Amino acid sequence: MSKVTFLGGCQQVGASAVLIEHRDTRVLMDYGVAFKGEHRTPLPTSTRNLTAVLSHAHLDHSGSLPLLAGSHTQPVPVYTTALTRALSKLLLRDMLRIGRGNLSFERQEIDQLLRNTHALTYGQRQQIDDKVWITLRDAGHIPGSASILVEIEGNGSGPTRILYTGDLNTRTTQLVHGAPSLRDVGELDLVIVESTYALTEHPKRKDVEQTFVETIRATLEEKGTVLIPAFAVGRSQEVLSVLHKYRNQGLDYPIFIDGMAKAVTKVMERHSQSFTGGTQLQKAADHVTFIMNGSDRRRALKEPAVIIAPAGMLKGGTALHYLRAIADDKRSSVLLVGKQLPGTPGAELLETGSLIVHSKNGTGQRLCVQAKVKSFNFSCHVDRGEVLDFLRHVKGNPKILTMHGDAVACNNLADTLRSEYGFSAEAATKGQVLALN
Ligand SMILES: [Zn+2]
Repeated sequence: MSKVTFLGGCQQVGASAVLIEHRDTRVLMDYGVAFKGEHRTPLPTSTRNLTAVLSHAHLDHSGSLPLLAGSHTQPVPVYTTALTRALSKLLLRDMLRIGRGNLSFERQEIDQLLRNTHALTYGQRQQIDDKVWITLRDAGHIPGSASILVEIEGNGSGPTRILYTGDLNTRTTQLVHGAPSLRDVGELDLVIVESTYALTEHPKRKDVEQTFVETIRATLEEKGTVLIPAFAVGRSQEVLSVLHKYRNQGLDYPIFIDGMAKAVTKVMERHSQSFTGGTQLQKAADHVTFIMNGSDRRRALKEPAVIIAPAGMLKGGTALHYLRAIADDKRSSVLLVGKQLPGTPGAELLETGSLIVHSKNGTGQRLCVQAKVKSFNFSCHVDRGEVLDFLRHVKGNPKILTMHGDAVACNNLADTLRSEYGFSAEAATKGQVLALN
């Protein structure tokens, strides 16, 4: 008998974790962190006979993994792609450095975890014990991201096959190829699917790109600065690749990149062979100035230019430095390229045209922004139509559990899958245990 336990990321975005157990073998898929709300970490679990598999480097999937690094004598093996391993090293160390998440681990645990992290390529079948196998599939979300297929061989009967999508994207963007269809996966018994945008339809990517580029062109022609606050992992590189695509169409201005996005871009360049847009990203990066010091920062603001700088929701990072500098300049633009969660400075700026900016000593000051503020949907998650289309091609008659979305999105997607598609589907709840035959 095998069972699946939902440890976190249920009816919330953050702290994703799902445990599959078969006899003594325990396979943990993701162990993330949430930076707000009640459930900051997944439920605890023992490191006994544990193997972890990491879908991708974003901290809502990886941020609590060092808690399970195990001891020197009994380390917990982790499987993921080579690129996710390299990105996780950056992100976990950065999380520790800035004290995000307040988790009780140190550099030692991160290093221990990374030492025992083994790289798999997409499609490579890895044996965990004599009955359990895992395979990573391209999830199309960010470079290096994977969905996880777990196969458990039965006694005489066929194997039990479980697909955990992780964060999933099926549309091809400048940076990544969309996740392949489920047609080739074979029959599945259980699908655990993300629901982040299960209530949303994204606009066509080409339209978004064109409006984005036209806004940049207009700002630069007015001699303004374009500030693009962007998430360091994935979104900054997608924006670089979009700008590179339109360079040949006359959008040829200085581009600067600052903050964590620099190191992440370098890592992705080193792994450029492992994702579709790798070569284009390398070419894009050749035309970009990586800001190294204060004099580079001043230079970036001296002439019409595009500046890409985290944090994506303006919660901190070097983006705030540039925002202060251009706030009074009506010719300049602030282009938000990621979802601005309610309550964040980015959401406040979009709604009110001003935001509270905290100085180093913690005091907050309201900053009124005269520069134009616009938002663009460059989502790297499936929307409602895309997730339904993805699941429509599944073979077998799997049970479907939704997670990684707010309660309304997870339940709504499960309802639709039940009522319109005839699946046995439900929204997973934290602590839920599901028995598998
Ligand atoms: Zn993600």
